[in-house]
Amino acid sequence: MPRIPESEIDRIKRQTDLVALVRSRGIELHKHGSKDFAGKCPFHQDDAPSFIVSPDKGLYHCMGCGAAGNAIQFVGKFDGVSFRHAFELLNAGAVAFSPPSPSGECVKLSTVPRLELPFDPAATDEALLLQVLDFYHDRLLKTPAALDYLKSRGLYQEEALRAFRLGFADRTLGLRIPEANRKAGSEIRNRLQALGLVRESGHEHFNGCITMPVMTPEGIAGEVYGRRVTKPNPGAPKHLYLQGPHEGIWNVAALDDPELILCEAPFDALTFWVNGFKNVTFIYGTEGFTDELFDAILARKIRRIRIAYDADDAGNRAAERDTARLTAHGIEVFRVKFPWGMDANEYAQKVQPAAKALQTLLNASEWQGGPRIHTRGLSDPPPSEVAAPPPPPVSSDPLASEDPHVHARGSSSLAALLAADEKALLQPKPTVAPTNSACLEKTGDYHVLRLGGREYRIGGLAHWGQPFTIHFTSGE
Ligand code: ZN
Repeated sequence: MPRIPESEIDRIKRQTDLVALVRSRGIELHKHGSKDFAGKCPFHQDDAPSFIVSPDKGLYHCMGCGAAGNAIQFVGKFDGVSFRHAFELLNAGAVAFSPPSPSGECVKLSTVPRLELPFDPAATDEALLLQVLDFYHDRLLKTPAALDYLKSRGLYQEEALRAFRLGFADRTLGLRIPEANRKAGSEIRNRLQALGLVRESGHEHFNGCITMPVMTPEGIAGEVYGRRVTKPNPGAPKHLYLQGPHEGIWNVAALDDPELILCEAPFDALTFWVNGFKNVTFIYGTEGFTDELFDAILARKIRRIRIAYDADDAGNRAAERDTARLTAHGIEVFRVKFPWGMDANEYAQKVQPAAKALQTLLNASEWQGGPRIHTRGLSDPPPSEVAAPPPPPVSSDPLASEDPHVHARGSSSLAALLAADEKALLQPKPTVAPTNSACLEKTGDYHVLRLGGREYRIGGLAHWGQPFTIHFTSGE
C-alpha cells in the first residue's frame, strides 16, 4: 500500500476542525479552560467529562481510559476503520462527517463507508470500467507521490495524463464500495471481479500501480496496463495487465501517420509521446505483437516503422522477427539503436534534453529492410550516384529527419511511387535493358542493380525472397 506522505497527514490534521469533528459524532463538548473542550468519552463508560479536546494542538485525550490521538486516529477509533480509511474520510471533506444522531448516542457505522461511490452501479460493464479508470485518474492527480514517480521517469505531462487517462490505484476504491457482507457490496464487488479490477481475495488488482488503459476504437478500455510504483511483495510482478488476451491499440491515432515508432512497452511509448513524437505505439512486450495491431498497420498503410525495442537479446530477437514480418508486407523498417541494455525511457532519462536525444537516435536509426521510400518519379533522370545527397526534408514534423531515407512523408502518392519503383525494379523491360548488362551486387546493407545504364538501389532483398522474384532476361 502506498504510504500516505507525512505532509498529507499533517495537512489533514491542520485542516480538520477537531471540535467540529468530535461533535459530528454526537459528543457534546463544553469549554474547558482557556483553549480546550471537554465532554463524555465515547470510548469508555464515562460519567464525568473526561474527554479533553485541544484544538490548537489537534489532539484529544481521555483522562479516564487513556484514549488519545489526532483527528485521523479519532475517526479510526470511533468509526472502527483503518487509519488509511479514516484519512480518506477526512480527505474527502464534507462527506466525512456523519450527522449527529438525534439521541446524542454514539452510532457505529463501521460497515458503511461514507465516501462517495465513484461510479454508477447501474452502468454497463464497459462504462463501469471507464468510471473506475476515471476514479484512478482522479486519485493520481491527488497523490503527489504517484505524480513524483512519473516525474522521476520523465513521464509527467498534464496533456499526456489526460489524453491517456493515466491513473493511480491507491487502494481506496474498496473504501468506497459497500462491504462484501452487504448485498449491494457483494454485487458490485462481483462485477469488478469479473472485469478483472478486483481479485478473488478482494484486493484491487492494480493496487499501488500507475494505470494506463488501452482504448478500443469503440471507446472501451480493451486493456489496462499497470506499473507498480510501490514496493511490491517479493516475487510480485512490476508490470500488470487485465486477465485474458490483450485488446486495443494504444494511441491508435498514431496509425494515421505513414511512419510509426514501435516500442516494446507502454512507458517507452509514452516516453516518445511526451517528448513530442506522437506517432508511437507499443506491442505488449517482445512476445506481445497482437494480430490486431499488425492488421491495423497494414490496413492503415503504414509505410515505415522505426522499431524502438530494448537494446537487449529479447529486444533484438523480437526486432529481427518483426522486421521480417513487416518487410514481407512492403513496409520499410528501421531499428532505433539504444546503448546496450537500455530502453527508450531509460535513455531519455539519462541523455538530456530527452526530446533532442530521442530525435538524434531516430535520425540515426538503422535501416533493416523493406522497400526504400523515394520521392523520385519514374520520369525523373535516373540517379547517377547511388549515394546521391537527399533532397531537403519536406516536413517540419519532428520525424522528418536528416536521415537520407526519410524523404517523403504522408503523401498518398508515396504508395504510388513506391509501387512504381517496385515495378521498375522488379519487372525490367527487355527493350530498355540492353542484353548482358544486368548486374546485381551487394553494397553495404543494400543491393545495387545496374540495368541498362540505370542504377537501382534495393533494400531488404534478403527478405524479399518470398513475395518477389527477380527475373533477368538478359543474356548473362
Ligand atoms: Zn475514555
